[in-house]
Amino acid sequence: MNHSIDARGAVRKGLLGGAGDPGYERARSLWNAAIDRHPAVVACPAGARDVAAAVGHARARGLELAVRGGGHSASGASCVDGGMVIDLGARMTAVVVDPQTRRVRCGGGATMADLDAATQRRGLAVTGGTISHTGVGGLALGGGYGYLTQMAGLLVDNLVAAQVVLADGRVVRADADEHPDLLWALRGGGGNFGVVTEFEFNLHPVGPQVHVAMLFWELERCTPALQLARDVCAELPRDAGILIAGLNAAPAPFVPPEHQLAPGIAMILVGFGDAAAHDHRLAKVCARLTPAFEMVQDMPYVALQQMIDGAGPWGMHAYSKGLVLDDLTDDAIAVLADHLPRKSSPMSVLPIFPLGGAYADVPDDATALSTRRSARFNVSIDAIAPTPELMAIDREWVRGLWDALQPFARQGGEYVNFMSEYEPDRIRSAYGTKFDRLAAIKATYDPDNVFRGNANITPAQPTV
Ligand code: FAD
Repeated sequence: MNHSIDARGAVRKGLLGGAGDPGYERARSLWNAAIDRHPAVVACPAGARDVAAAVGHARARGLELAVRGGGHSASGASCVDGGMVIDLGARMTAVVVDPQTRRVRCGGGATMADLDAATQRRGLAVTGGTISHTGVGGLALGGGYGYLTQMAGLLVDNLVAAQVVLADGRVVRADADEHPDLLWALRGGGGNFGVVTEFEFNLHPVGPQVHVAMLFWELERCTPALQLARDVCAELPRDAGILIAGLNAAPAPFVPPEHQLAPGIAMILVGFGDAAAHDHRLAKVCARLTPAFEMVQDMPYVALQQMIDGAGPWGMHAYSKGLVLDDLTDDAIAVLADHLPRKSSPMSVLPIFPLGGAYADVPDDATALSTRRSARFNVSIDAIAPTPELMAIDREWVRGLWDALQPFARQGGEYVNFMSEYEPDRIRSAYGTKFDRLAAIKATYDPDNVFRGNANITPAQPTV
């Protein structure tokens, strides 16, 4: 099917493809190799007009729609069997920075690497994922936690405008003045409301050099290492960032041979401001619990954003479950210390994103974000493995650890981007009181639930 369509639904060359066409394998390939779906047709649009035409084409033929940004959702939401994939990452990745207004506009299919490269050329940045090949689309619509969370909030907090193709083919702008209800919903409500063809974010001065320390403690010292991490988070200033993870050390040159691939706790501590303050913080951490090894280096912000890309490469089989903690209590740490040694795949990982500073400044109802602003830790439990068999073993590890942490977890307020499975009751409980408002906005912009390949918010039913 080597043809495409224009805005009126007429076919022209190059936009749509089926199996065997260039772009087909790209559009259906996902970060999570456990998801192997075959769409009937893929669309590789170059702009909003093409996207509107593709949506109209799919609707006219009754094709299920999936919108693909960076293809990283563990659930595989961005691909569909037998339907149409709109692959925004094929041609809609342009990034334009305005240093005067400190704003950036980027295509709906850009990756964090695209965004960081362009913004850093002007000494600016916006919070984004910690792995550079992740899509801006899914991050910006779900949350977007990263090293800058403390300083600049989440990616959703910095989303100021969007160009959106709606289910009926209209192209609208959502900002503070036009369709403000839609902008509110996009800031956390996922891809439920339309196809975002362009995002506009606020930017912050960052780098270009930043101060980075990666510290590692062996599994035997998991408990004191996590207690230390908790205390560091409590005192973290706004010009610092931190990521904590239960993982196996990389086989990297800076890792002593006896620790390569060994399990333990890693802490990445980043200083965005004064070098002396960062050094002082680091010295205090090391004095309290000497790491098994550390890597301390100033590096470009762009390099920091790519530093752990190897921990989540394309083509792995994956399964994730997330939860949110109000505190990393000693009891919760005891559960983590009990379960971390039980994972089987060296790639399976437990990233913990501390929440504070600018994240906590934003009122809960200012965005549709599922995670609450009073929460302190956003935890993802990830089975990642090169084979389906090993992933299946660690999927049970994920479920077991998730269950064991429930007594300490917040009920509700879970981060929808860390879900591999979208059980309707969990989505409702994740959004809590925001769910009904989202469902009403969904009824306005997508009453037929055309965009349901996501953590789906079903449209509110009209009251008679
Ligand atoms: P996709 O699968 O393409 O899209 C995800 C969802 O968003 C789908 O429902 C899709 O239809 C929709 N969507 C995407 N783009 C658009 C658009 N332009 N318009 C409308 N709908 C769209 N999260 C964090 O917060 N911080 C992290 O550091 C982080 N690291 C990660 C690292 C890895 C290796 C992985 C796999 C995930 C990570 N995540 C992180 C989770 C991440 O937020 C989600 O996986 C996110 O959905 C990825 O977005 P994507 O565009 O790549 O995915």
